Amino acid sequence: MLNKLIANALPYMPKKLIWIFSKRYIAGETIEDGLKACRELNQQGVEVTVDLLGEFITTIEQAEENRIKYIEIIERFTKAGIVGNFSLKPTMFGLLIDKDICFANIEDVIRKAAEKKSFVRIDMEDSQCVDNEMEMYRKLQQKYPAHVGLVVQAYLRRTKNDLMDLSNIHVNGTPLNFRLCKGIYIEPKQIAFKTYEEVCEHYLDDLNFMFDQRMYVGIATHDKFLVDQATRMIEEKNIDRTKYEFQMLYGVTPELRSGIVKQGHKMRVYVPFGKDWFGYSTRRLKENPQVASHIIKALFFRG
Ligand SMILES: Cc1cc2nc3c(=O)[nH]c(=O)nc-3n(C[C@H](O)[C@H](O)[C@H](O)COP(=O)(O)OP(=O)(O)OC[C@H]3O[C@@H](n4cnc5c(N)ncnc54)[C@H](O)[C@@H]3O)c2cc1C
Repeated sequence: MLNKLIANALPYMPKKLIWIFSKRYIAGETIEDGLKACRELNQQGVEVTVDLLGEFITTIEQAEENRIKYIEIIERFTKAGIVGNFSLKPTMFGLLIDKDICFANIEDVIRKAAEKKSFVRIDMEDSQCVDNEMEMYRKLQQKYPAHVGLVVQAYLRRTKNDLMDLSNIHVNGTPLNFRLCKGIYIEPKQIAFKTYEEVCEHYLDDLNFMFDQRMYVGIATHDKFLVDQATRMIEEKNIDRTKYEFQMLYGVTPELRSGIVKQGHKMRVYVPFGKDWFGYSTRRLKENPQVASHIIKALFFRG
């Protein structure tokens, strides 16, 4: 209840106040801020995935601007020698306005990444986007097998079936590459598991399936229980360290993160930056007010 109240009030609070907590989770506004954060993480032995903030655009012109910005980002970050790859949200490229234009925009970005021998992960958004994002991935995977990956959300009831369907599209011996996360949007119980136990159970079931299918998995979680269970599964199945990585969000659970790195597992941090940090922070909170508890902690227990 308190979380919900705070989440609703946030858009009306001064930007400066919101920045106090947001800056822990967002690298800054500019490409230079993003580069700085990525260099620091690289120095700690951590790879990155770079994300430009901004979603839910309303015009095709904005989608075109985002295409140009992402191409510039790929050029700048690869030129700077950042060890990492890129993540994007299809709604920023026009998914909810014109699917074909969105596809063409994203293909341009992936072509640029392929040219630079890099990789783009298509983030998974709310359930209205899932079919289109899966379809887009299927098409792009056939053309750029080593340069594109997708996210799957363990809380969706459909995910295991989606993984089974996708397991048949293997091309050229390049493993399919997925990020497995719990899922951040509020979805109805008809399509999504709602309890912590159910989501964890399905997370581990999906992970088990992905390892058995020799898919490359980005194990994206800050949940100590899931990290421990995943590590146990990796040991039991004797999974090679080149076949998976752990992933976390910028600024979240740094101690757990460095513990995983010390054990010798590959770690990638999701680094969001951009001028739209305010909209991003407040939208995330409205979607999932539970995140507000982290803000309260960040406000009162800073340092
Ligand atoms: C690299 C990465 C990429 C992601 N991409 C997507 C995506 O494409 N689509 C999608 O739907 N979701 C995505 N997510 C979000 C994901 O679905 C979960 O909502 C999120 O990771 C929280 O779940 P958890 O597994 O970390 O467990 P939780 O049980 O939520 O968190 C475990 C613990 O981590 C800490 N924690 C978690 N989140 C925060 C936070 N924001 N601030 C401070 N502490 C926190 C808390 O201590 C908490 O107790 C991504 C997550 C990661 C790590």
